[in-house]
Amino acid sequence: MSGAFTDSHAHLEMVAQRLGSLALGEVVTAYAAQPAGLILDVGVDPGDLARRRALVENCLAMDPEKHGPGTKSAAGLPIRWAAGIWPGRGALGNPQASLEALERDLASGIDALGECGLDYYHMGGGVEAQKALFGAQIELALSKGLPLLVHSREAFRDTLELVKHCARRIPVVIHCFGYGPEEAGAFLQAGCYLSFAGNITYKKSQPLRDALALVPEERLLLETDAPYMNPMPNRGRPSSPLDIERTYRAVSALKAIDIDALRANVESNLRRLLS
Ligand SMILES: [Zn+2]
Repeated sequence: MSGAFTDSHAHLEMVAQRLGSLALGEVVTAYAAQPAGLILDVGVDPGDLARRRALVENCLAMDPEKHGPGTKSAAGLPIRWAAGIWPGRGALGNPQASLEALERDLASGIDALGECGLDYYHMGGGVEAQKALFGAQIELALSKGLPLLVHSREAFRDTLELVKHCARRIPVVIHCFGYGPEEAGAFLQAGCYLSFAGNITYKKSQPLRDALALVPEERLLLETDAPYMNPMPNRGRPSSPLDIERTYRAVSALKAIDIDALRANVESNLRRLLS
């Protein structure tokens, strides 16, 4: 099978902000033209879903002759949509209003809830406020039967504690996995998917590579987290989903899997968990 490389986690609006709307147009065109591969566009601000969809539709309007039938709206594109509340200072300062805005996004039809989670590195708002906001989003995902996209930084134990009760009831993805093999084993045992980003190609990321070795093919996802985590040799520059091929090449070599088989496997995992 050939096609575009599935990107399990990207922020297309931020890609446009960092690289320009023409660059986003190239991404949309490339994925629309391919027979396979999809992008999961992930939200961080409650209430941002309509704006993100409109941005992609504007890309199509800018260059309509490049897109085939069925791609006149974002609905016809190989792009799926998630909405969630990132644990930042703004949302943590007014969680009730944030959750109400998120519920309106959920009502307008999405494929997954996220990203949400715990970030004790940036520590906006404090541990208890973060756990409460994350817990409320877990409850929402459970009540709607939606997959949960989890951000976890320097918060392994509390993340595991919160997700282990739900990861066998709804798909739970630990996105941009940033821990080592011990933590990977615990998340896998809880039933989670692990999604690896371009930082797996960085020199000092041996713990990520050791973790990758443990992940069975049916729980593996790959992502850009664009515009972040550009795989080598472009570390530090803003990324787009078009950079993900280098991550696939690295993972293909590390796991000794044919790259087309890896591409098909990640796509089928993402489609299955979103269905
Ligand atoms: Zn993200």
